[in-house]
This record gives sequence, structure tokens and C-alpha cells, in this order.
Amino acid sequence: MLGRQGAGKGTQCVRLSRHYVVPHISTGDMLRVAVKEGTEFGRKAQEYMDAGDLLPDDIIIGIVDERLEKDDTRNRGFLLDGFPRTVTQADALLEITQPQGIDLAVNLEVPTEVVLKRLAGRRVCTDCGANYSVDESPAHDWTCDVCGGEVVQRPDDTEGAIRRRLDLYEQETAPLIAWFMARDKLVVVDGVGHPDDVTARLVRAIDRRRDHQRAR
Ligand SMILES: [Zn+2]
Repeated sequence: MLGRQGAGKGTQCVRLSRHYVVPHISTGDMLRVAVKEGTEFGRKAQEYMDAGDLLPDDIIIGIVDERLEKDDTRNRGFLLDGFPRTVTQADALLEITQPQGIDLAVNLEVPTEVVLKRLAGRRVCTDCGANYSVDESPAHDWTCDVCGGEVVQRPDDTEGAIRRRLDLYEQETAPLIAWFMARDKLVVVDGVGHPDDVTARLVRAIDRRRDHQRAR
């Protein structure tokens, strides 16, 4: 699943993973755990994230490779969220998933100005990572509904930092979109609107493509 930060990838991936009964493999979640546990990798990753930079390919490819070796990805497949982000990562993914490869890349398209507004209003639980916003706050005074943790604006969610991340994303992802298109793997889905409507669009697009592939 491709898409700008704030496009709703995380929310939609959780829904799709339930719908298709496949594991949702989020590099963001894997990173959060590593940072929280303070592993050597987690500390390294923290430095890049504090600077608002994307992580180097070798760190990301390593953790995804380890995850895809687990048994739960083998039977019904898997849904990747936040990976690949670069052509180097996409090449690595092809190698990791041989001989089956991947079925489809979905680009969840939401215009930059829309995601900027969403991200600036975003709030997150410091303990469990649950997402809130200024429009959808927790029931009690910025205390997480899930775990009771503190809900705050992430220090890297200032408008300047957000614009910088979106610029980086455009730079790195434009060639990736071309990469998937050249392999006839890309589907673009409109990510603007109610989350239920977006989910319905995604399921339609994915099912259509799967039926088409089975027919071949
Ligand atoms: Zn929480």
C-alpha cells in the first residue's frame, strides 16, 4: 500500500487485513516496538526519525525480510504497509518474495493539501501508538481510550516537518510508482472521503484485479 503520510494507509490496511484475513505488516509498527524497547536498531532508527529523515534501505529491508520469513505470510499472503518506499526496496522485495512475487501495489491517492491538514491535527498515544485527532479526541482529556497513556502531538508533526516529509516522499516515491506501472502492478484508488467509502473502493479495486489475474 502506497500513499502519502496522512492518506489513511494505516486505517485502511487494518480494515483490509480483516477483510482478506491476511497479516498487516507495518514497518511503522515494527519500528515503534524497536524504538520503545531501545534495541540497537531502535536507537539508530530514532536518530533518523528525530531528524525527520527516512530510514536507510538496508535497515528497513532487513526487518521486512525477517518478518516475511514467518509462517503466517505463506498461506493467504500479506499486506505491506510502509514498504517498499524506494526502488531499491522494491527490487529487494521481488527477490525476497521469489518465486511468487507480489500481486498488486495500491496507491491510495490523497492530495497534499488534504493530508497536510489531517497531519497537523493528528494526535497520538505515547504508549500504544493509537491515533486521534483534534476532531476525534479521546473520551477523557487526552488520555488514551485504549491503554490510558498520554495523547500528544508528535514533535515531528509541525507544519515545516510535515512538508519536509511529504517532499521526501514525493522524491523517493515517484520512481517507485513508475516501477510498479512498468510491471503492470499499480492500481490508483481515491483516498478522499469517509473511511467506509474508501474501504469499499479498495476492496473493489483489489478484487477486480485478483479476478483478472485468476482468469489469465
Ligand atoms: Zn494508548
